[in-house]
Amino acid sequence: MAAVLAERELDALVVTELTNVRYLTGFTGTNGVCVVSVDERLFFTDFRYTERAESEVEGFERAPAARELLADVVKRVSGRVGFEDAHLSVRTHARLEKLVADADGDAELVAAGSLVEGLREVKDETELAAMRAAAELADGIYEHIRGSGLLGRTELEVATDLERVMRERGTEPAFPPIVAAAANGALPHATPADEQISADTLVVVDLGCLLDGYCSDATRTFATGEPSGRAREVYDLVATAQRTALDVVRAGTTGKQADSVARELIDAAGEGERFGHALGHGVGMEVHEGPVLAQRNEDELVAGNVVTVEPGVYVPGEFGVRIEDLVAVTEGGHEILSHFPKGLVTLD
Ligand code: ZN
Ligand code: ZN
Repeated sequence: MAAVLAERELDALVVTELTNVRYLTGFTGTNGVCVVSVDERLFFTDFRYTERAESEVEGFERAPAARELLADVVKRVSGRVGFEDAHLSVRTHARLEKLVADADGDAELVAAGSLVEGLREVKDETELAAMRAAAELADGIYEHIRGSGLLGRTELEVATDLERVMRERGTEPAFPPIVAAAANGALPHATPADEQISADTLVVVDLGCLLDGYCSDATRTFATGEPSGRAREVYDLVATAQRTALDVVRAGTTGKQADSVARELIDAAGEGERFGHALGHGVGMEVHEGPVLAQRNEDELVAGNVVTVEPGVYVPGEFGVRIEDLVAVTEGGHEILSHFPKGLVTLD
C-alpha cells in the first residue's frame, strides 16, 4: 500500500467503498471509512459498529467518529489526499470538498481512481483458500443438479432450489443463479423464467457461492433428452475453445491474447458473431472485478489473479452454450478451481 501511495504521490488515501474497506480492514459493517497514509492507518465507524470493529478490524487505529464519518476523517488528513472517485456520489464528493475547504488545513483532494481494486486483483494464499472453498461448494451444487434433474421443472423452481441448497450448506449465492433452457439460454444474462424445461434441449446453469467474503463463478451447460445435432456441434466447439483458452492462462499472457485464442476458434467455425461477450473476468470479493480477459486488456496476467474462462455461443431463438471455469493464475500456468465435469451431461 505504501508503494501505491508513493507511486501516485499521495500523502494519504481515504477509502470509502465498503468492499475496499473490508479488504483492507476486515470490517463487514455498512458504515466504515479507512485512511491509509505513509505512517498512519485509521479506521472510522460510528457507535453502532464499535463492537463489530473491535472484533474485526486489525492493524488500524480506531478513530472516534460521528455517524457521517467524513467530518472526522477530514480532521485527520493533510497534504495530497486521494479519494475513490470511481465510487463517490456527486453529493458525497461535494460534501467532502466543502469539509476540506472549511477545515482551512493544507489538504488537497486528488482523484485516485481504483487503487485498492488494483491490489485486490492479486490474491494471497488466504484469499485463494477462501475461493477454492467457495468453488468447491459450487461443485457440490452442480452435483445436486445432477441428482435432482431438470426436465419438467421450471427454470424458476430449479433456481430457487439451488439457492435453498446453498443456504443449507452454509453458503449463499454470489449472484442470483441463472437457469436458462432452450431459447432462454441464448440470452447470456437470462433471468430464470416460470417456464417448464423441455426435453431435447440445452440448459445453461451459471452459479457462484459466496464464502468468507469471496465469490466463486462457474457455468455448465446440461442436456435434456436428445439435443439437435447442431446443439451438440456448438457444445463441442465451445468446449474446445474453453480448453484451448485455458491452456494459455498463465502469468505473462495478456487478457487480449487469452480472449483471442477462444475467439479465433469460434470465428473459424463461423460462430464468431454469436460469441458476444469477453472471454472472462476477474473474481474475488466481487463476482466481476479485474482483470478482464478481453480484447481491450493488453496487460499481462500475474500470479495470484483469479479469472473466469467462459466462452459462449448463443443461437437466438434456439439455445445457448456457455462453459465457465474459475481459474487461479500461477507463475508457470494455472490452477482450475471449479471441478464439475465439462463433458455434456444429460439429465432427465
Ligand atoms: Zn458465471
Ligand atoms: Zn462469469
